[in-house]
Amino acid sequence: MNNFTYTRATSLSDAVNQADADENSQFIAGGTNLVDRLKVFLDQPSQLIDISRLQMQGIEDMADGSLRLGALVSNTAVADNSYIRHNYPLLARAILSGASQQIRNMATVGGNLLQRTRCPYYYDTAFPCNKRQPGTGCPAITGINRNHAILGASEDCVAVHPSDMCVALAALDAVVEVASPQGQRQIPFADFHRLPGNTPQQDTNLQPGELITAVILPPLSWAKSGVYLKIRDRASYSFALISVGAAINVRGGKIQGVRLAMGGVAHKPWRATAAEEFLLGKSADIATFTKAAEIALQSAQPLTHNGYKVELAKRAIRRALMVSAQGGGIV
Ligand code: SF4
Repeated sequence: MNNFTYTRATSLSDAVNQADADENSQFIAGGTNLVDRLKVFLDQPSQLIDISRLQMQGIEDMADGSLRLGALVSNTAVADNSYIRHNYPLLARAILSGASQQIRNMATVGGNLLQRTRCPYYYDTAFPCNKRQPGTGCPAITGINRNHAILGASEDCVAVHPSDMCVALAALDAVVEVASPQGQRQIPFADFHRLPGNTPQQDTNLQPGELITAVILPPLSWAKSGVYLKIRDRASYSFALISVGAAINVRGGKIQGVRLAMGGVAHKPWRATAAEEFLLGKSADIATFTKAAEIALQSAQPLTHNGYKVELAKRAIRRALMVSAQGGGIV
């Protein structure tokens, strides 16, 4: 770990002004991924700005019916919130499927969005890696790539985004609120994370020094039927091989609304918009869900070791949609 200066921000404006004054600074809150990266020299900030005491810890009802999650609300507090468990069960279950209780107690809403891939080549500095050092190469493409991307990858990076919570937020059309010395702005969740392209070193569309202040969940009455299905190598404390966040609104046997997102497949939480469009107005039955799963995976480009993900994802989509169409619950 390199030497760095530690400061504790006293207010939001203090935090963003400090970050603006030192382009090599980083914010720290729960630190559950950042500290791991510091230890192996992946991140070498000159200054850590501790934002953990700022007043961003509330879960608030907004006048328009949306729910505002402060960036410093712990993952545990979100998953335990009775309103969220009832109205956005997809989000609560996604969070509970990730990490461990101790990590969820420390991890924050904002930090969850900013965790970086767990590609083993990225963490092992004996290997080159375009995400760690642009232009050096991607050993995963010809190496062990069982856990890597099947959608939206590039010749420069085939890593996947690790978050479960972000799959749920993608499905729920969340909005990310950020602040800088220039003011505040909102970023639709679909535009927050990036595909790797030829700049895999950039995971998000945050500008330098911008700080996440909240995540907003728009109202969605039928999100109560939402489910989160996560498939992994072991039953706990493991990242998704494939995950599916789904919510479906069925009336009179026909699909009136649907949200479908996947994790473990791409550099960002993957919203299956073509499959959603296909599903609207169709009968909520297994044949329809099977076709939707085919559509969701039709552009998949598996690597040497991860072809199994294509079929696994199709089956997971079918099951998640089926369970959600029956009212939701544990998948
Ligand atoms: Fe690095 Fe991305 Fe390749 Fe992994 S997949 S080695 S993170 S460039």
